[in-house]
Amino acid sequence: MPDRILAVLTAPAAGGAAAEPFRFADPDAPLLTVLDLGATRGDGVFETMSVGGGRAQAVDAHLARLARSAAMLDLPEPDEAAWRAATIAVAERLAEHREAFVKLVYTRGVEGTGQPTGWVLGSPSPDHTAARTEGVRAVVLDRGLQHDRVAELPWLLQGAKTLSYAVNMAASREAKRRGADDALFISADGYLLEGPTSNLLVKRGDRLLTPSTSLGILAGTTQAEAFRFARSRGMTTSYELLTRDALDTADALWLLSSVRNAAPIRSVDGVDRPIDAGFTAELNAHLLARRD
Ligand code: PLP
Repeated sequence: MPDRILAVLTAPAAGGAAAEPFRFADPDAPLLTVLDLGATRGDGVFETMSVGGGRAQAVDAHLARLARSAAMLDLPEPDEAAWRAATIAVAERLAEHREAFVKLVYTRGVEGTGQPTGWVLGSPSPDHTAARTEGVRAVVLDRGLQHDRVAELPWLLQGAKTLSYAVNMAASREAKRRGADDALFISADGYLLEGPTSNLLVKRGDRLLTPSTSLGILAGTTQAEAFRFARSRGMTTSYELLTRDALDTADALWLLSSVRNAAPIRSVDGVDRPIDAGFTAELNAHLLARRD
């Protein structure tokens, strides 16, 4: 069964028309030069999509977000057709895996050339059963920024999916140091934001809530699908400003992301929170079954 699959984009930026939009390459062979700005400065953007039965999920939404992130970094517009073709081709080669993922990486390229670099790497997913059923322990970490300052600080790239994830990874390690599994960011003035690699979902009765994307958080594709699923079942959904007490009063909480899908939060800062096992199972079954 194929394990990791790599496709390298021939011309990742729009307007660079190439006869072949990508070529498959050996994922274990060297690909980048030491001058690639993606490696030396984390200067680039990425996307991670779930793959089920050889089909990448929510391709349109992920490609649209790749383009939005690229625009926020003043990168050339990605060639949508080339990225789509490479994504679909890599995903197809993972058809034998029940759950897999593809990661699209688009960097500013080799310093001085003005030529971006792009590749799509596919791989089987790790087993997320425990997180999806038993849940995750979360700790709340201060992101150090006021919730209403995002628009006036665009150079902080809040809400872009950049390759500069060292801060997000540091937050994940801090969560582990505190005996938890994952972190949840809060603004300096007390508004709930997102996890380092996930969005927050809050259930109150028949309502699903998530923090507003105006807070400089990533517009989650999994969160958007969870909202669609909830509405199809007669629930209401909304984007809101949520303060810390929303965690204490919720009927259930989740961290949502591609690949791991819906991970119920079973404790916040060491205090147990209820898990809605029924809704979690239905939501995860729906997310896993997506083939669009
Ligand atoms: N927020 C951040 C910071 C993320 O990195 C991610 C995914 O990696 C998400 C939210 C969830 O986004 P999606 O559901 O589209 O995977």
